[in-house]
Amino acid sequence: MPFAVISDVHSNLEALETVLEDIGKRGIKKNGTIFLGDAVGYGPNPNECVLLIKSHARWTIAGNHDWAALGLTDIAYFNASAAAAIRWTDDVLTPECRLIMEEYPLVKRLKKENIFLVHGSPKEPEEWHYVLSLWDAEVNFEYFTERICLLGHSHLPFILDRLPSGDMVVFKEEAELGPNRYIINPGSVGQPRDSDPRASYAVLTEQKAEIIRLPYDIEKTQRKMRDAGLPAPLVERLSRGV
Ligand code: ZN
Repeated sequence: MPFAVISDVHSNLEALETVLEDIGKRGIKKNGTIFLGDAVGYGPNPNECVLLIKSHARWTIAGNHDWAALGLTDIAYFNASAAAAIRWTDDVLTPECRLIMEEYPLVKRLKKENIFLVHGSPKEPEEWHYVLSLWDAEVNFEYFTERICLLGHSHLPFILDRLPSGDMVVFKEEAELGPNRYIINPGSVGQPRDSDPRASYAVLTEQKAEIIRLPYDIEKTQRKMRDAGLPAPLVERLSRGV
């Protein structure tokens, strides 16, 4: 600690560079970054993002879009725009980046740090469920033993504190970390969906978790997406953060 936690980059190079620069300014060491999956999908720079994540993240796991781009997850349940972006990504991914992504594990346990990493949910990680409600969280606390679970997938940042009584408290910006158990979603670097279009990530210290939001050059990303012929709804949603 401290750690930077990034997730759901989705081939958005401008957002990723902005976040990595901020991580560097905070003095978090290069080996202090955790990546929770979905390097690719939706955006225009999959190869650049895969390589940057590889050079900056000490721990990395797979997301459903990563698996879909590798042909490991069926895109039948993706919406039309997401599926079109996966087909585009499949066309442009280099063999080098494919090899890097094939090394992403589905989950990871950081023993010394007492942290569990998963993209979707501790229960059935390969099914890519979301943790969206207190009920989802309650169920999922049974499926990991570590003090903290870091997950992504919903693109909605939160810090959930489970008290010894079993009661849960949700924080949206920052929270003190004590002896309780926690589920933390850092939000999405490259495609935020909480109506705030700024890139989102999290910083963890021994005592505190904090969600960081950063403006980035959205219009530049959008121009590249249009030039690449990626679906218009994916371009447009970046402006609104949905
Ligand atoms: Zn995602």
